[in-house]
Amino acid sequence: MWVRGAIDLLFPPQCANCDAIGVGVCAACVPERCDALHAEAGAGLPVLAFGAYENALRRAVLALKDGRRDVADSLARRLATLLEPNRALVPVPTTAARRRVRGLDGVAEIASIAASISGGRSHPVLVQRAGDAQRGRTRRERLATRDRFACRSGIEIPPSVVLIDDVCTTGATLRDCRIALEAAGTYVSGAVVVAAAKSGAACLPQQNSC
Ligand SMILES: [Zn+2]
Repeated sequence: MWVRGAIDLLFPPQCANCDAIGVGVCAACVPERCDALHAEAGAGLPVLAFGAYENALRRAVLALKDGRRDVADSLARRLATLLEPNRALVPVPTTAARRRVRGLDGVAEIASIAASISGGRSHPVLVQRAGDAQRGRTRRERLATRDRFACRSGIEIPPSVVLIDDVCTTGATLRDCRIALEAAGTYVSGAVVVAAAKSGAACLPQQNSC
């Protein structure tokens, strides 16, 4: 622990977007509350996003993907403002290989922190069957891919859950997770994500107070 403290003293953590000293992402770069975006995309369920996947929020998500735990904490606090209290959350899983490389499953971390803030619980019940199957695929190819996720066997899943992810692009990942959960008899009432890509053609941003 003292090693971490000494490193922080020598190289104080900075905002993921600007050079402000502090952990995570600062409130000047990404406000702590938002006008949520509604992104229906191809997920087949209502998707709420804290913001658009651009500028400071995009850089924060990329820092999360690089394994910055302080950024996960910052983003989780913001995502939690979009959650109804006491919900069961299911994080979209990353592959074991990526988790090993980064040392952190950022989405699982966000779901866990957001659950503790909102009085809910995170249930990491999904596993990804293939590797990073969506990377490099076109929108059409992504939407045509199915069966990438499955529920862990032998783990009890709540009857109603909310999916949590970092970015919604085409909605195909959320859709596949929804299908896997529904196959296990669970109702997926919606998804809450950190950011929605406006390039996902079916994402329809509209303002909503939250
Ligand atoms: Zn900043």
